[in-house]
Amino acid sequence: MRTGPPRKAIFSLMPFSSFHLHPDLLRGVKEMGFTKPTPIQNDSIPPAMEGRDVLACAMTGSGKTAAFVLPILHRLIAKPRGTTRALVLTPTRELAAQIDEHLKALAIHTPLSGAAVFGGVGMSPQEHAFRSGVDVIVATPGRLLDHFRFGYAKLSGLEILVLDEADRMLDMGFLPDIRRVLRHLPQNRQTLFFAATMPPPIAQLTKELLKNPVTVNVERQALPAVGITQAVYPVPQDLKFALLLSLLKRGDFKSVLTFTRTKHRANRLADQLTRNGVPCERIHGNRSQAQRTQALAAFKDGKFKVLVATDVAARGIDVEALSHVVNFDVPHVPEDYIHRVGRTARAELTGDAFTFVAPDEESDLRQIERAISKRLPRITVPEFDYTRRPTERFEVPIQERIAAIRARKAEERTRAREKAERRGQHEMAMASRQRGGLPVRPSAPPGPTAPRGTVGSRHVAPSRPQPRGGSRDGHVQGPSRPGHHRSPQS
Ligand code: AMP
Repeated sequence: MRTGPPRKAIFSLMPFSSFHLHPDLLRGVKEMGFTKPTPIQNDSIPPAMEGRDVLACAMTGSGKTAAFVLPILHRLIAKPRGTTRALVLTPTRELAAQIDEHLKALAIHTPLSGAAVFGGVGMSPQEHAFRSGVDVIVATPGRLLDHFRFGYAKLSGLEILVLDEADRMLDMGFLPDIRRVLRHLPQNRQTLFFAATMPPPIAQLTKELLKNPVTVNVERQALPAVGITQAVYPVPQDLKFALLLSLLKRGDFKSVLTFTRTKHRANRLADQLTRNGVPCERIHGNRSQAQRTQALAAFKDGKFKVLVATDVAARGIDVEALSHVVNFDVPHVPEDYIHRVGRTARAELTGDAFTFVAPDEESDLRQIERAISKRLPRITVPEFDYTRRPTERFEVPIQERIAAIRARKAEERTRAREKAERRGQHEMAMASRQRGGLPVRPSAPPGPTAPRGTVGSRHVAPSRPQPRGGSRDGHVQGPSRPGHHRSPQS
């Protein structure tokens, strides 16, 4: 652990130029519009540039991406090599794409290259990135492991590893994958470790990975950024939608990211908003990567006022000047709350984070308030009628959904059976006509007691050759079994 005065005290007044970053990088920083470093950049960039391992407690919105990207680029630009020398591991596709974009923007005046490697899209362009030795790969662990199965994916020249949002990777069950990835990397490297919270398995991982790290902000409990106004709206569960609609109609809601607890609720909310004339998009785990990317781009471009998201899909979403985060449902764990509200008030802008709380969510809210050491103000909207009855049920309970699916499937099966029967009857009638006889009643298959000269024998043209072992009605029969007759369908 670092000793002595906090780094903040040392670096807080430093402009970007005092980091002695490569001039081409400073140009990129300037064009991004960054005038002064954020606290996490102040604290992390200098030790990372010295080649030290860094353990940083930082959440999204703090400027952490540039905090690790700039030192990486600075190191690589000194000696370009044409092989991959830096790897950033990150939990979600959105975050990987975003970091890659951020990196490319900062590296715009350098010859350095980067590539994002994540699932849900084709492997070939990513294979090409490995083969061509891009300087930096930003990857999700699962897809990276997929590539490691092939000979082209070698990271033996790696010099810097970044673990970004390591606590989220733990939540998502990626810890075993991370350990597998580590087996493919050289031991001798610099490691930069970023997490918003430090649960015990993550603290353990830092001990295994980091050599004499400089720790940044680890003592501090992760808290929402200062520019966020947080408030709680107590409301019965079945009036949440009506309340959201009435708030959205107020002019100050410009771009709103709304979180729901489940994918089903995200779908319901987006459908109801659309039906009520509020343009919106949705992102959650059941949507394809293309749909997610498209939805996010449209939201960023201001084509939709509302983006409905689940926690996992919204991870790392970076939308400048997001005016509101609305927790349509209270998150189960305080860390999710901190991450969600961190989507607004990015980099010193201001924003509001509202949380709708139904009576059965009060205990989750109390946990959040304990975690952020703050009681959030409760707000009652004067013009909203809290006693009204909802016009539409928001969520169909899971049992009802399952029953409806079963009923639909049973109906489909019945229809398929009826169709097969009709087809059989039709074929039987056709076969009979081809034989030149009268139509055969499908309900009268040949039976052991059928009189001679009726169904089985009467209508067969005597000149037609008979297959060996074939009966006279044209049906192939096996060894004759007394009392057994095949039906025309068999
Ligand atoms: P991050 O925490 O890396 O996701 O960054 C959050 C947002 O802050 C991004 O939109 C960055 O472009 C922006 N940002 C990062 N560093 C700075 C800075 N020094 N000044 C202003 N904005 C910044």
